[in-house]
Amino acid sequence: MQSEKCKVSRADTVRSDAHRLPHFALCIFQFALCTLLLAPTAARADDFTIRLDNGETTTLTARFAGEGRKATALEMPDGGWKLIPSERIHQRKAGPDPKPLTHEELLAQINDEFSATRTITNIDKPFVIVLVRARPGALDPTVEKRYQLVVKKAGTFFKGMQTSFLEFVKQARIETQAVKYPLAALIFESDRHFDAYTARVTEDQGGLSSPNIAAFYDLQTNRLVIRLSECTTFDTPLHEAVHQQVYNRGILQRFAPVPSWFNEGMATGFEGDGERVRSGPKSISDRYGRMALRARVVTWQEIVARDEPFQGDVLAAEAYGHAWGLHWLLVTKYRAEYNNLVKHYAAKKPLEMDRPDERVAEFEKIVGKTVNELQREFQMELPRAMARRKN
Ligand SMILES: [Zn+2]
Repeated sequence: MQSEKCKVSRADTVRSDAHRLPHFALCIFQFALCTLLLAPTAARADDFTIRLDNGETTTLTARFAGEGRKATALEMPDGGWKLIPSERIHQRKAGPDPKPLTHEELLAQINDEFSATRTITNIDKPFVIVLVRARPGALDPTVEKRYQLVVKKAGTFFKGMQTSFLEFVKQARIETQAVKYPLAALIFESDRHFDAYTARVTEDQGGLSSPNIAAFYDLQTNRLVIRLSECTTFDTPLHEAVHQQVYNRGILQRFAPVPSWFNEGMATGFEGDGERVRSGPKSISDRYGRMALRARVVTWQEIVARDEPFQGDVLAAEAYGHAWGLHWLLVTKYRAEYNNLVKHYAAKKPLEMDRPDERVAEFEKIVGKTVNELQREFQMELPRAMARRKN
């Protein structure tokens, strides 16, 4: 899906008050191009001369991150990506990669965007946490203290999440890189402002309206965007923060055609209790396990072939349950095959395309079993594993 707007890809989440469904994360990955009204930046990197919508040209300094689907992905010094229609790029002059912003510089950039008089902030490296208040100006001291605690708790929670994530990837022998850019997390005090910001950056994607989104990871800006009301359980922010880690540690490349089941399977594998992460992808998730066993419409074959089951609110619960189940089965019973799958997905390039039949064929070749065989195995194995755990 493409438009002239700067909407690229989202990971969105249905709010926990969506009572028709159990609370689950609903993430959307879509592709569109940037509106070409870009301000030049000062960092040193390749210089791209770009024709704007109004016919004038501008020069953008950025790292070339990939090309395909008639677009070029440019990585900016704040870690965000811009997708520019390739035919708009007139000239590329080589230079060194952009110097990543420091945590303080990224914070200053966010303060400029929302006004420093509205923000309460905490740098807990690599995270830059910014609570955006509903209104600027002086705060009641009690409220201010409470909000200071929120940004502090968010920092502690995300750092703990990062530790759990790194332990998991180390055990799974997944290659990772150090985080290159500071990782921003925006927390909106006001639901109305969250909705407005979300509507602006997601614009009618997948039929999911802003009031139904609790938090998301934005592949384009590289930010976590969270409602303040989510900062009690951190349930949804945890899920989205896993996506942010995956893309910032070189495990997957943004806008690469990696199947949603893999992304969502890994993110659903981490569960917390509001204070810290309590379990990782090798543990049994009662929530997603039940969703997987109850599923009657969506099959593993479908989620391996296509991402669509994750994108509607009717089938998404089944798709997320299956994604957790498939990921769990692989990390617990097929470690070598899982490792090869991760390498295979890691090699996929930004903006590449793939086909449903290729997805299934490459998966079955790497794992050495058919998707249907694995699903049958899971349906036998999970109830047994649940029973073993109780004894
Ligand atoms: Zn997700």
